[in-house]
Amino acid sequence: MGLFAALPIKAGTPIIEFKGRIIPWEEGAVMLLRGADHVIKFDAKHDMDARPQWSPAGHVNHGCYPNCAIKKKRGGLWLTSIRQIKQNEELLIDYGFDLGEEFEPCRCGHPRCRGLMLRKKDWPKLRRLISKVLALIAITVH
Ligand SMILES: [Zn+2]
Repeated sequence: MGLFAALPIKAGTPIIEFKGRIIPWEEGAVMLLRGADHVIKFDAKHDMDARPQWSPAGHVNHGCYPNCAIKKKRGGLWLTSIRQIKQNEELLIDYGFDLGEEFEPCRCGHPRCRGLMLRKKDWPKLRRLISKVLALIAITVH
């Protein structure tokens, strides 16, 4: 499953609105822990349970190098292009999981895929973590 551009899309275009239940963030956190992949941040205290049954926007996949982001517009959350998108290109967002919150493998297929659905902010942390783990393995082996 995924979303693909039927036509070229200009940067900054709101494409589809996410629809769903607005829930307290605590409830969203529990759902994420139980493996839900359709919970998005709504505001500081609320998440949205944005299952694809309410809007096809819920089908959007994660990409390490996304072409879309979720932006607020007229009180709603919109899947919005962040750069020009070619026809038939898959629409991708950065799911933006914190390091430690989720260890979901990523198969976005980008040549420089991180292998994890992880927000960009945490990439340097991941790199440090990996080098630490590699150092530990080296210590164990020698
Ligand atoms: Zn990836």
